Amino acid sequence: MSTILEETKFIMNKYHIKANKSLGQNFLVCEEVVQAIVESSQIEKEDLVIEIGPGLGTLTKYLLEKAKKVIAIELDKKMMTILEDRFSLYKNFELLNQDILKVDLYDLIKREKENNNIKEVKIVANLPYYITTPIIMKLLEEELPLKSITVMIQKEVADRLIAIPGEKETGAITYSVYYYAQAQGMIEVPNHSFIPEPEVTSKVIKLDIRKEPIVKVQQKEIMFRIIKCAFTQRRKTLLNALVNTNIFANKEQGIQILQKLGLDINIRPEKLSLEDYANITNIYADFT
Ligand code: SAM
Repeated sequence: MSTILEETKFIMNKYHIKANKSLGQNFLVCEEVVQAIVESSQIEKEDLVIEIGPGLGTLTKYLLEKAKKVIAIELDKKMMTILEDRFSLYKNFELLNQDILKVDLYDLIKREKENNNIKEVKIVANLPYYITTPIIMKLLEEELPLKSITVMIQKEVADRLIAIPGEKETGAITYSVYYYAQAQGMIEVPNHSFIPEPEVTSKVIKLDIRKEPIVKVQQKEIMFRIIKCAFTQRRKTLLNALVNTNIFANKEQGIQILQKLGLDINIRPEKLSLEDYANITNIYADFT
């Protein structure tokens, strides 16, 4: 049996493929990492798996054996022939030559649920790193009926996404992910697990989508705007950041709101919990 590395080199040779850097093409060539991604995603027989960026089909091959159906969405036209040749015998394979950021996933999932008796929908991918954040935010903010998202991304970004708000590594995005999902890190992946090698270490993370949001907030859009404004001025106190970005009309109003919630007026944006931001949002409505 050939290894994934040999298989990848063979396919790249046969189809004259050179990895396209601008599309974030770093092909996974490590057996253990492929296994770890597949196991972490806990695919069951009745599941629909949506794979983003199948590339040469390394992960796809394993996903097809596990899931009821795999829909693979790949932007690079050059990969189409390879994937079609490789998986033409699989009846549970559908390939879309599209930009994931432009796909109407809600409609796609609705169609599959109606026609194919699907139990759960799971996203699995070795993501193109140049658009990690927009892809993850699309998957979360569109409130798709997903069970989980298992993806390999840059370690640095991964650590921010899986952090607990208010603890180390917190960024504005930490709060968004935490609102929608319970996140965990699975394994760290060294750069020699890919060809070509990326410049960064990678990490597989799993986001289990929450059935209900973890905090009650009247208008979540306003809460996320407040969080974004707080973090655009990270070195400042929360109070100054929210006054400077016109969330608070003035310092006096800001102090009044923070004191009413029992928050230190010198607190920094990254020290607040998601619940603190939800409370600010709910009380803020009374002041505006
Ligand atoms: N899954 C393969 C693997 O693990 O070896 C390839 C992973 S590679 C890191 C990322 C893949 O995403 C590439 O095949 C790339 O062409 C594809 N890609 C890049 N931008 C995309 C986009 N906007 N929509 C869909 N696929 C994209």
